Amino acid sequence: MNERLSAFWNNRPMIISGPCSAETPEQLIQTAVELAKNSQIGLLRAGIWKPRTKPGMFEGVGSIGLNWLNEAKNISGLPTTVEIANAQHVEQSLNHNVDVLWIGARTTVNPFSVQEIADSLKGVDIPVMIKNPINPDIELWIGAIERIQKAGIKNIALIHRGFSAFGNTEFRNPPMWQLPIEMKRRYPDLPIICDPSHICGNRIMLSDVAQKSINLDFNGLMIESHIDPDNAWSDAAQQITPSQLKKLLDELIWRSAHVDSNKNSTSLLNLRAQIDLKDDALIELLGERMKLADQIGLFKKENNITILQSERWNEIINRVHDRAIELGLSADFIKKYFDAVHIESINHQNNIMNQP
Ligand code: PEP
Ligand code: MN
Repeated sequence: MNERLSAFWNNRPMIISGPCSAETPEQLIQTAVELAKNSQIGLLRAGIWKPRTKPGMFEGVGSIGLNWLNEAKNISGLPTTVEIANAQHVEQSLNHNVDVLWIGARTTVNPFSVQEIADSLKGVDIPVMIKNPINPDIELWIGAIERIQKAGIKNIALIHRGFSAFGNTEFRNPPMWQLPIEMKRRYPDLPIICDPSHICGNRIMLSDVAQKSINLDFNGLMIESHIDPDNAWSDAAQQITPSQLKKLLDELIWRSAHVDSNKNSTSLLNLRAQIDLKDDALIELLGERMKLADQIGLFKKENNITILQSERWNEIINRVHDRAIELGLSADFIKKYFDAVHIESINHQNNIMNQP
């Protein structure tokens, strides 16, 4: 790794920016030069081959863009990264001094493509970033990591860009934070970078999502930027200018996962101890609640009545709802929580009914 690249890879936070797509040499170089004025930016991104949902959308400038990317690097000093989706892309990128490769969400889903990329990387020393697959399938994401690791790639990072969902209006790709959190648990040594641009699909929510990822101890951000976002040839609604990006980054609050032993740690430890006590109490109560459900199951069995009593369930939900809101719990949470309790209760009663 050259010096600039290792400065990016080994320092935290890892900040990546650049246009969704390279459009013209001027657009790419100007964006790069503007970005390089901000020392927080460590890596320049640009899509050359764009996997688009429908034909007729802008599908990228193709390999000519690799020359522009190299020029942008020489002028701005920023190392570069490009999305690759097959062996040819890998070969051409390597021939044009691209510093880091990334596998896009539409490629991570396809084991044939990922294996082809892995095969083309055997014996090559280049960092690879792997975006989550478009569907919320953690094993598929892990499979891609394993294929790239088996090819001998040592430097791997993960990019969380959210997951496709039907009919969600708030996000372009809902973040489903529990998945990247699980990946952090399974791969504590791999850096994980959040891509708020593709999660949000708009500019308004970028900083909220970026801040949330920092609060969850992510290691970096990939945010699309463009010198003229409104006229971008792809993903116009979500891109921001390099100066808007600087403002966004300056306003984020970077947090540490590690508690400074001199600073407030006793009060944090104290609060955590209290949380543990409450969790213990919750588990005890849930156990007791399910014992009552068992007794109800027995009663229903003996009297030959159905487990599901919709009216009774509505009564329970309505009864707890108002109090939950008073206590500052969200309606969404309380619904999910009681649905989970209800399913568990039904399963308990079902087991009782099925006993000979
Ligand atoms: C991109 O980064 O421009 C891109 C195509 O992203 P994703 O693979 O996350 O859709
Ligand atoms: Mn994009």
